[in-house]
Order: sequence, then C-alpha cells, then structure tokens
Amino acid sequence: MKILAVREVTVPIGAAMGNASIRFDAMTASAIAVVSDRMVGGKPVIGYAFDSIGRYGSGALLKARFLPRLLAAPPDALLDAKGIIDPDRCHRRVMANEKGGGHGERSVAVGLLDAALWDLRAKIEEKPLWRALADRYSRRDATGRIAVYGTCGHFRDGEGLAHLGDEVRRAVDAGFTRVKIKLGGTRTAEDCARIEAAAKAMNGSKWLAVDLNGGLEPDIVGDWLRHVEPYQLAWIEEPVEPLDYSLLASFIKHCQTPIATGENLFSWDDARNLLRYGGIRGDRDIIQLDVALSYGISEYLRVVGGFEAAGWSRQRCWPHAGHLFAAQVVAGLALGAHEAAVDVTLPYGGFWDGTDIVDGQVSMPSLPGVGFEGKANFYRLLAPLLPA
Ligand SMILES: [Mg+2]
Repeated sequence: MKILAVREVTVPIGAAMGNASIRFDAMTASAIAVVSDRMVGGKPVIGYAFDSIGRYGSGALLKARFLPRLLAAPPDALLDAKGIIDPDRCHRRVMANEKGGGHGERSVAVGLLDAALWDLRAKIEEKPLWRALADRYSRRDATGRIAVYGTCGHFRDGEGLAHLGDEVRRAVDAGFTRVKIKLGGTRTAEDCARIEAAAKAMNGSKWLAVDLNGGLEPDIVGDWLRHVEPYQLAWIEEPVEPLDYSLLASFIKHCQTPIATGENLFSWDDARNLLRYGGIRGDRDIIQLDVALSYGISEYLRVVGGFEAAGWSRQRCWPHAGHLFAAQVVAGLALGAHEAAVDVTLPYGGFWDGTDIVDGQVSMPSLPGVGFEGKANFYRLLAPLLPA
C-alpha cells in the first residue's frame, strides 16, 4: 500500500469561553486526512485526525517540514512486514534531521500525523483502534471498557454559580461519576464558592476535581490550600506553571489531595524532568500528557514505560484531551481514565453517537479506526477533507 496524499484544514474553534490561562474565542485546530491507495467499496481508505483543543492548528509546520518528508519516503519504507502502514516507521522518517530538545509545537504537528496514521492502520486491519493497539502492544488487560470523567465549568461571560451547578448536574445525570471544573486561582473565596456549587450538584466533593490551568497565584497558595484541602477533592489539576517543577514540588509538599499535571509537557524529556524534580507521588498523582500533542503513540509509550520503570502503574496515566482518539488510546493501552468534555453538542464533546455512560464508564464501539464517522457533529468538521 502507499500514501497518495495528506490533506490539512485549519478549523476555527471560536468557543466563547475560557479557563484560568486562556480564552478559546480565537482558537483554531487542524484536521488532517491521510489518503491511501487501498480501496473499500469503491472508496479510498483514509485515516483522519483532529488536534487536541488548546494549541492552535499546526498546518504550517506540517506543510513546511513533516508532510514533504513523509511523502518523499519510498512507500515500502513506511510499511511493516505485513505490508501495512507502520506509524513507527513513518515517525522515524518525519523526525529525520530534527535535533533533540526544544520540542516546541513540532510535537503537535507530528502527533496529529501519527494519530491519522493509526486511524488508517486500524481501518486497514478492520479493527477499532483500541483493539489494533492492544494487539500490537500485547495488552491482554485491554477490555474495551474505559473509566471516563467529565470536564465542564469553563468561564463564560454572564454565567455564575447557578450555571455551574446546572452544568455539573447535567454531567452527573449523563452518567459521569467524576466531574472536573475550572477555577480561577486568584481569589480563594471565589474558588471555594465554585467548589461548593459544584459539590452541591454532586452530593459531595469526593468525586469533584478542580483545574487551575497553572493559574494559582503564588501569593495565595497557603491560604488557598488551607481552605481547599478540607473538601478532600478527587484531584487538583495544574496548580502551578507547567514547567516549574520546583514550585510544583513545594506545592505538593503541603498538599495531601492528589495532583494531576502534565498536559502541557509534550515529550518524554519533559515528563522525565517532572518525574525527577516535580515531587509527584506514585500512590495518588495523575499524569496527563496528551498523546496527540506529544508526537503520538511511540513517544507516549516512552512516557508510560518511563513511569513504569520508576515504579508507577500505568493506571496513573490519564491523557488530556476530551478526544475520541485519546479514548481509543486509553482503552488500547489499558490506561487509567479518559477525559471527556461534557457538552455533547460540541463537535469534540462527549463520545460516539449513542454511547451510554454507565457509572462513569464507557464501552468502545466496534467501528474501525478511531470511529470519527460515528459522531455526526464531529464528522461534519472533516467535510473539507472528504473525497468528492
Ligand atoms: Mg487541564
């Protein structure tokens, strides 16, 4: 088989909401299609991928460097012994002549391409992606059923605590047992009021998590922890700047609640520094590197392997994303849990159409590949990439 073309389109996200770090009004994302020469039912088999939300489209990097390298490779050099596209071999080709370190956002472009190549590979194998991954990496513990949690409670103009409570209640009604909301990190009393509004909607704070997106003001950390720790939250996410491992270590020293972090680290190099210097605890903390933002599956396996070598369970790995591709990876590599945006009207919210969330768990669909074709409002985003 061979790759005939790779198409990219940059899609505006334009969501009127924000977190402690950014607003999403001007956010973009890339969608790509890897078109193969394999035909099924008179149509080419195509691998699709869509960026994780939060880092802008990566079309320029793809077009300038990574796609030309992929398309210049002899077709056979990109295949495994069975003659099927091999994402690891593709990865080595596209990363030729890239220096170590300084990962920047090239990892986003390469991760997007990797995700599409995996969708393509699984479709050619006629398997859901999770099954293709579990077979390839011999995960007998992959069951096709995953734990999930719901993310909501972004900041929107004109919305207050009543909206927040309603949003959390809808998540619980939809079947989520664990729900995460955004906090501002600048005023302790406001953050506590948001926690209480959400906890009321969940009948307690035990399964409620909060996300500070690195925005907790250093001056208020002591006061904030004194007020927030008694809620015994499920976890506190990204309390400090993502790359300040020393500050994170000092925060963790004073915090019993589990910490979740890593969504803004895009390589094993960075994750290893988190492991060495971040003070994180293998008995409770959660590692959230985002597979699609971090070069893709091969790099993510280095991360999981590195943490396992340090005595961690892969159950502590909960990839960031709210993304169907990430759900497939969680299932296929038998990771701890998957993040989902609660609002299913968002193209990147929820799961495949008709998916039931039962007691905070989801069963994977039988669609081949990632199954983007099984979520109608998302599949419409891919329209510019579809064959005529
Ligand atoms: Mg987060």
